[in-house]
Amino acid sequence: MTTSTERIAADLRSLVGDDHVETDPTLLREASVDRFKKYQSVHGIFDGPFPAAIVFAGSVDDVVAVLTYADERGLNIVPRTGRTATEGGLETVVENSIVLDGSRMDRILEIDPVDMMVTTQCGVPLQVLEDTLREQGLTTGHSPQSKPLAQMGGLVATRSIGQLSTLYGGIEDLVVGLEAVFPDGTVSRIKNVPRRAAGPDIRHVVIGNEGALCFITEVTVKLFRFQPEHNAFHGYLVDDLETGVEILREVMVEGYRPSVARVYSPDDAAQHFADFAGGRCVVVLVAEGPRRITEATSAGIEEIVGRHQHDRVDPASIEQWFEGLNWGQDKIDAERESMLRTHHLGYTTEVSAGWSAIGDLYRSVLRRITEDYPHADDLTLLGAHSSHSYQTGTNLYFVYDYDIDCEPREEIEKYHKPLNAIIVEEALRVGGSMVHHHGIGKYRTEWTEEEHGSAYPILAGLKRAFDPRGTMNAGTIFPLR
Ligand SMILES: Cc1cc2nc3c(=O)[nH]c(=O)nc-3n(C[C@H](O)[C@H](O)[C@H](O)COP(=O)(O)OP(=O)(O)OC[C@H]3O[C@@H](n4cnc5c(N)ncnc54)[C@H](O)[C@@H]3O)c2cc1C
Repeated sequence: MTTSTERIAADLRSLVGDDHVETDPTLLREASVDRFKKYQSVHGIFDGPFPAAIVFAGSVDDVVAVLTYADERGLNIVPRTGRTATEGGLETVVENSIVLDGSRMDRILEIDPVDMMVTTQCGVPLQVLEDTLREQGLTTGHSPQSKPLAQMGGLVATRSIGQLSTLYGGIEDLVVGLEAVFPDGTVSRIKNVPRRAAGPDIRHVVIGNEGALCFITEVTVKLFRFQPEHNAFHGYLVDDLETGVEILREVMVEGYRPSVARVYSPDDAAQHFADFAGGRCVVVLVAEGPRRITEATSAGIEEIVGRHQHDRVDPASIEQWFEGLNWGQDKIDAERESMLRTHHLGYTTEVSAGWSAIGDLYRSVLRRITEDYPHADDLTLLGAHSSHSYQTGTNLYFVYDYDIDCEPREEIEKYHKPLNAIIVEEALRVGGSMVHHHGIGKYRTEWTEEEHGSAYPILAGLKRAFDPRGTMNAGTIFPLR
């Protein structure tokens, strides 16, 4: 017997209290999508299904109560915190889903400046945390563009990465321990230790689960000294992306760890650095940390760049640009207004590959889109940048903007999906990963099995083990059956 929508809302109210359950139809509609459907939703088009209710959990007990309620009845749970998801992870694709919102669990629980870690509830916005830490001369080192809006639970659930990742790492390098609730109500606290060899690293079952295995209630991340006074910004113009990528590769493999290491293709550079890019690629490097380290890093960068044909950019321009990079509610609102007025928008697809494959990946994506994609004439921007580098390779963040020449309802099928597919296919063809940091969400699931290849049974086994009834975020990471 299925439980009616009204019954679900009433049951939830009695479980967690009236103040924690929202059933306003407008809010339910908005909760049925995320930024993947930003163009449709700005036109008021919501295809549904809409959730039965949004529950604003106030405690771990609330989370346990809602998860076990849903699990017993086979109802779908969609966890959320900051709501900046871009890949459909927040879409409620089955009837009578419950959106479980952790944003009211917003307490910073403990700042430990000796063991250098901070513990927060899942709903603490990263910006709030950073502002608090910086007053004490500390930082998490995590600085995604979504910092003003994203919250700790979502940042961990998506395996997010920040703009300073080359120095501090992605969230997976920062999480010390965490607490998560599984659909049967089990509350697991993975303890905070510097390292251990006590079997496989179980943090990684939770980090990146995108709400498809469990609900993250508490997170402990590392702390670092905040010392921006030594930051040294470096900017260069080079003639092609391959040269820029080679500079990044040499910086990485020769042992330097700038916090920011980026190269923008000519078209991408033109939108970011209109004043000076002049049709060339822009390389950005930032040395950060104690003075002696920033000086040594800067000297290493200069030596490496000096081996390649380049022109120098005023470091003040790079610093000024970097300070305006984050996205708060003001930019989201401006984007909404602009989409309605201009019928023009931009999307991104971020992938990764080994150093040796990046040139091929970049060229083949550009070639396929310009030569094979039937609506290439509607594109107003096609480019890419590398923004996160490693010893073995780097990411490519493809950007594509277009004028929409169709009904809002058709936009995703005509533009976003085919362009995204070309980039994903090429990343997999060169042996890279189809997703570097936004998560699989609901729109890259058709490639999940190919992404993991012979290791796919490990991933599928996690779903069977931890969410045997399929309660958690149906259609995310794993295709909807
Ligand atoms: C303007 C903009 C810039 C961005 N820049 C970056 C960037 O620089 N780096 C980057 O990595 N990403 C970036 N993103 C993507 C996104 O912000 C990040 O993935 C972020 O980590 C999501 O956090 P959130 O709190 O908004 O999560 P939400 O959007 O609420 O949720 C994201 C996903 O995590 C799941 N989830 C949320 N909370 C929980 C929880 N408590 N337990 C279990 N699952 C949960 C959801 O079901 C969903 O699948 C950007 C997005 C936008 C819109």
